Amino acid sequence: MKIEGTFPGQEQAALLIEAASTAAQQAYAPYSGFRVGAALLLKDGTVVTGTNIENASYGLTLCAERSAVARAVSEHGPAMRIHAIAVTNLNSAASAPCGACRQVLAEFAAPDAWIAFPFGDKLEIRPFADLLPFPFGLSDEATRKETRR
Ligand SMILES: [Zn+2]
Repeated sequence: MKIEGTFPGQEQAALLIEAASTAAQQAYAPYSGFRVGAALLLKDGTVVTGTNIENASYGLTLCAERSAVARAVSEHGPAMRIHAIAVTNLNSAASAPCGACRQVLAEFAAPDAWIAFPFGDKLEIRPFADLLPFPFGLSDEATRKETRR
């Protein structure tokens, strides 16, 4: 799936949410029943999705967002950059990314990346930086240089 344009409009966000919703149908969530999907719009227009993968140990559960990042790097290489992120679930619940996923997404998110997720009774569309304004990095300079690629 290719999505053209860079403006985070409702229509583009809806398309990305739809891709995330489709991915959520593949969730492996036998313990919680919470089926999550994430869709990443890469800078080149490609959409990469992921879903949550639970584990009997619980702690090894992989969130949909990190699953999508692993797939994006595997398929598009370490220089790939994320332009937009959508996260949703099939449980009619809020879907803001957890803290761990915010940090992992920040590693590859472009400085102007945006994110969409259901929260309450609406779709939140925000600059990704609003969710993690001070991501961990080995140094400010290294982080800035990496995110500008
Ligand atoms: Zn997470």
